Amino acid sequence: MVDFSNIDYNRVQYVTNRKLKNKEKEETGSIMMFSYDRETFYFKMKCPFCGSNQEGEEHFTRKPYYVLCKNCGKKSRIEKLNKK
Ligand SMILES: [Zn+2]
Repeated sequence: MVDFSNIDYNRVQYVTNRKLKNKEKEETGSIMMFSYDRETFYFKMKCPFCGSNQEGEEHFTRKPYYVLCKNCGKKSRIEKLNKK
């Protein structure tokens, strides 16, 4: 698992830190996600649907990116990844 307090920003290719909205469009969640190679993405998320905190890694090959909550099973769409 990646240490989020020790990210090597010289190597980061993409990073995003944003609010996530629930069904009612309220910003009840958030996600921090980054990637060193644009294939493996590490994330820390507060699920906007159930409020659980979790972290993990995902492999994305195409946009849009979705992160699945392991607790409630709902997907959050990551609108855009900000280039560092
Ligand atoms: Zn959830």
